[in-house]
Amino acid sequence: MQRVEKLELPTSFPVGPVHVFIVFGEKLTLIDTGLNLDQAWKDLNDGLHTLDVRLEDLDQIVLTHHHNDHAGMLHRILEVQPSIDVYTHENTKIYLQDKEFSKWSGEYFDKLFYEFGLPKKIIDSFTFRKKNRRTIDGITFHDILHEGATVPGMQGWQVIETKGHSMDHISLYCPEDELFLCGDHIIQDMHAGIFLDAPLQGEPRPKMLIEYIRDLEKCKKLPAKLTYSSHGPEFTNLPKVIDEELRNIDHRIVRTVEALKKLGGKGTGFEIIQEMYQKRLNKAIVSFMFEIFSVLQLLEVKNRVVVEKVNGVYQYRLVE
Ligand SMILES: [Zn+2]
Repeated sequence: MQRVEKLELPTSFPVGPVHVFIVFGEKLTLIDTGLNLDQAWKDLNDGLHTLDVRLEDLDQIVLTHHHNDHAGMLHRILEVQPSIDVYTHENTKIYLQDKEFSKWSGEYFDKLFYEFGLPKKIIDSFTFRKKNRRTIDGITFHDILHEGATVPGMQGWQVIETKGHSMDHISLYCPEDELFLCGDHIIQDMHAGIFLDAPLQGEPRPKMLIEYIRDLEKCKKLPAKLTYSSHGPEFTNLPKVIDEELRNIDHRIVRTVEALKKLGGKGTGFEIIQEMYQKRLNKAIVSFMFEIFSVLQLLEVKNRVVVEKVNGVYQYRLVE
């Protein structure tokens, strides 16, 4: 049986604490690093201490994806262990290190927000705009984690690509013990959320919800006795938890269509999310925009809506 230990680290995000994992294989592997907070750094060190491990003992790090609550303390660990091996999906390196991509991503989102119909005043207020994102330099990434790959020193584990939450998200599965480390792909009783990523330059815009549903269906087939998420409790009933997530997605699709009907069958993305979320909208406008933009992409693929661009802004029209 593989020994896997979980440490809970604080974040400043609504999702609550994040888990990092230590896998005791031929190599001592840390899965994810936590958000860069002094308390998280202390808890990581203390947590390792209770396991009789020090940061210096770690052989390697695997990142499930590039989000700050997962990769945020990477540079701090590298200060202790400058030559530690870091294994990631091939896109992670670009998101974390490529300054050109970071700039392009900022421009891409400015344009997408405009196309979605968000007022300029709102767009300008987003602190999230990635063009100012700090990149991490000086790390050599082994960007080999694609579907079916194995991580050196983690015998018995295989990589499962789980896109949708981000475009570089991977999970780890151990068939022999039926253990599944699913990162942010599936979180029990909580919607993991679609976070749009800019496509790599020259590549088509990803359809994140479609990828997400496909990868949920794929994971549903995995025999898993125990699934560890990066947030929330571990669980034993993977197919049931996935079915709940799929039902929530269906519900969101139905609500989007209803909102369009209320708008007389057509509207901009902004009008749709205003109709759907009303007063709640301003609390998490970017998250709602990401969710519903990806729902509208799916509806377009299914020929339920047609999209036209009027003065640079998408108009979504319901097909009766
Ligand atoms: Zn997370």
